[in-house]
Amino acid sequence: MTTPSRPDVIVVGSGSGGGVVASRLSEDPALRVLLLEAGPDFPDLGSVPDAVLHCRLGSGVNELDWDYLDRGARSALPRGRLVGGSSSVNSTFALRGQPEDYDAWAALGAPSWTWDECLPYFRKLETDEDYGVRAYHGSSGPIHVRRHPLDDFQQAVLEACLEAGHPRLDDLNEPGGIGAGPLPRNLDAEDRRQSVLITYLAQARQRPNLEILGGALVDTLLITAGRATGVRLASGEEIVGGRVVLAAGAYNSPQLLQRSGIGPREFLAAAGIDVVQELPGVGRHLLDHASTLVALDTGRKAPSGFIPIGPSCKLRTRGGLAVDDVKFTFVFGELFAMPGLSGLYVEVSNCTSEGEVRVRSREPEAEPHIAHRFFSDPADLDRALGGTLAAIEVARVMADSMRCEQLLPDAQIARDPEAVRQHILDFHATDYHPCGTCKMGAESDPLAVVDDHCRLRGIDNLYIADASVMPTVPRCNINVPTMMVGERVADYVRAEL
Ligand SMILES: Cc1cc2nc3c(=O)[nH]c(=O)nc-3n(C[C@H](O)[C@H](O)[C@H](O)COP(=O)(O)OP(=O)(O)OC[C@H]3O[C@@H](n4cnc5c(N)ncnc54)[C@H](O)[C@@H]3O)c2cc1C
Repeated sequence: MTTPSRPDVIVVGSGSGGGVVASRLSEDPALRVLLLEAGPDFPDLGSVPDAVLHCRLGSGVNELDWDYLDRGARSALPRGRLVGGSSSVNSTFALRGQPEDYDAWAALGAPSWTWDECLPYFRKLETDEDYGVRAYHGSSGPIHVRRHPLDDFQQAVLEACLEAGHPRLDDLNEPGGIGAGPLPRNLDAEDRRQSVLITYLAQARQRPNLEILGGALVDTLLITAGRATGVRLASGEEIVGGRVVLAAGAYNSPQLLQRSGIGPREFLAAAGIDVVQELPGVGRHLLDHASTLVALDTGRKAPSGFIPIGPSCKLRTRGGLAVDDVKFTFVFGELFAMPGLSGLYVEVSNCTSEGEVRVRSREPEAEPHIAHRFFSDPADLDRALGGTLAAIEVARVMADSMRCEQLLPDAQIARDPEAVRQHILDFHATDYHPCGTCKMGAESDPLAVVDDHCRLRGIDNLYIADASVMPTVPRCNINVPTMMVGERVADYVRAEL
């Protein structure tokens, strides 16, 4: 493929955010859109690897990963490196969070992001196969969402949740809903993972005005007189375009900005990079959900093939909370990415601990320094403890009614909340939801990197459209919210062209 001579819009990164932006912008035949992706492209369905097309037990996609580590925590940080980005490798939990999450973004200086203003975009992106007729769901969007009927064992797990006192919730995406029910997953009727690769981009790539270039690692942005004018690839090639939308994800977007001289002065100085635009928030405010586990011996062999996940239970760990602050989910055969392990996967839903992403070197292939600092806010550990104790309660019911044996934490530890706290510190990891490193916010917020329309502060013609713009982490797995961000940024860019 030859790159178009001067695209109107260059999108960097083809994941949940960037893939949606490129797809929606290319609906306008008058616009020439170039989508650049560091990893490989799989242009037709037949060429998509099985591990990308499906979400099966043991079907890791290690060869399509950025291989990042949180070195301080000695913890792997998987990220998809291929067209579709992390949407092509994720576990297909299709959740939206609560209205409060988006109203909080608006209150924090991004006034257009109230729940009422985000909801039309959540509806636009999905076809909910079960509840599409409900006013808050969509029935004609590119991403198909389904809840698998629970098998006998999963049904018994759900009953254990109800016996432990959690209400039944058939649709975990119901606004304000709390309780236990089947997990909505972005899978079609053939159980194909509804990645951006096989949905939005499979349709959009037929259009002559969209070019998708795989294997194109972007080194830096080209900035002239305070305007983004294009990008420089790691190969040295320069591509000039009208506007640039950065969507390289919550680790790579801040790293790419910093490599381009945009970021906190001290981060740039430490890597020997000249300052083009000082922006103290770039790479700071790294958020995620912390996750931990209650592992069980279910006495059953894990089924081969498709990974059964769910039911899930959203709960409040203390009185006085308007909505949930923890969720746990039954995972069969691949709990904590450990082959053969089953049990309850506990995720703290509104984590407030903050880490950072710093460029280490000018080299485009160099890994950034990533430090999540889980539980640096002690409130997160309290939330994790409340959620783990609630999961242990469900495990106790399962031990009685289903003859499941609790493995981790063992029965003795499980009786002592202080010992459970230590279990969480020993067994916690990323929930794969990094965000917040280029957050939206008001001009008065010195750490805000983009404005309400996701335009970079201080540089014209440059937008960000990925999970990095989220000012707080929503109470859910964030693939669907990131696609919602992509939908909205596409509208903002189109309105300004
Ligand atoms: C293993 C795993 C399981 C997950 N499970 C779930 C789940 O079940 N449900 C859920 O909701 N979420 C899940 N997530 C999280 C979710 O997929 C991500 O939050 C979401 O995809 C983030 O979207 P993004 O656009 O910010 O980044 P990404 O989707 O990661 O996209 C960034 C893209 O930019 C490309 N890129 C980066 N740097 C450059 C560069 N310099 N030049 C060119 N291209 C570049 C990357 O290769 C990538 O394609 C999971 C994630 C992982 C990794």
